[in-house]
Amino acid sequence: MKEELKDKIGRNIDYLRFSITDRCNFRCFYCMPENTSFLPESELLTLDDIRFAVQIFKEIGFKRLRLTGGEPTLRSDLLEIVSIVSETFGSCAMTTNGSRLKELALELYSAGLREVNVSLDSIDSETFFRITRGGNLKEVLKGIDEAISVGIKVKLNTVITQMNFHEIPELVQYAEKLGVPIRFIEEMPIGKNNNRHFIPYKKVLELLHENDFIQIETRIGYGPARYYKTSRGTIVGFITAITHNFCNGCNKLRLSADGKLFPCLAYDYHVSLKGAIKSRRSDEVKKNIYNAISLKPLRHELLNRTQSNGMNRMGG
Ligand code: SAM
Ligand code: SF4
Repeated sequence: MKEELKDKIGRNIDYLRFSITDRCNFRCFYCMPENTSFLPESELLTLDDIRFAVQIFKEIGFKRLRLTGGEPTLRSDLLEIVSIVSETFGSCAMTTNGSRLKELALELYSAGLREVNVSLDSIDSETFFRITRGGNLKEVLKGIDEAISVGIKVKLNTVITQMNFHEIPELVQYAEKLGVPIRFIEEMPIGKNNNRHFIPYKKVLELLHENDFIQIETRIGYGPARYYKTSRGTIVGFITAITHNFCNGCNKLRLSADGKLFPCLAYDYHVSLKGAIKSRRSDEVKKNIYNAISLKPLRHELLNRTQSNGMNRMGG
């Protein structure tokens, strides 16, 4: 079975990002337009569909699954979904904007959630509000504290843009204060985002090199980040899809909330699993997963072609 998880250039594809809803209570300017429309509820995979699909990914050898969105905490059956994933995969990780973590962290931990990546683009309330178009920084910071205090491992994710570049040292200090890693993500021209606010990661490195800062080999989690350490021991990562391509190490597929399996986030093409999931045809679901693996492109061409599906649909 394992052999079939290799794509045409030998990459082992065993990591699923699963967007369980495309809805969000924020409107981060790089992710989605302010006036956007979402899938009708009736189009989404149900809890039973999710149980069936998660089991199949496990059966064919996927090693890890991360829940994402949209904002995954907006799904009313999130705790059940987390239980399914953690029972099937032995653990569950999630990416969230943190806005509902204060109220949910303890129950999420009990359901089996052990890791969250929380998006934190600013620690200034006004800038945070402007970037997220409506997000409340205080709520998110309380959510992060709560997640840490119940025992969930937290990493911070910051998309670098002209709107928050000046805050980078402060964000690193904030991560230091909490004792958690922080990763800086290069903004990608995905969906309707034209990358007008793009800043290359090297600029962040230059800024931080003014302090003591060393590259380390550590790999944290299952993703593509490259890591450095500050003199105070805080891990700082960079996810550099635009200026430093890491496609040759890609191990992911992305499943949308309506059952579309995307071989790569930089392209619109996908394989639909929905019909086969809804009618519980496991062989057909498996065949389609292998097909998506075989369709993985060699690399993204984000700067040369347009892509119309927003990150919230495909699952960032
Ligand atoms: N709502 C959750 C959140 O914000 O963490 C999960 C979904 S969000 C689409 C997942 C990740 O994608 C976030 O870290 C977000 O910052 C990142 N993201 C969204 N649009 C992006 C873009 N155009 N370029 C780079 N990262 C992006
Ligand atoms: Fe929502 Fe996350 Fe997209 Fe921001 S990045 S709009 S929080 S899905």
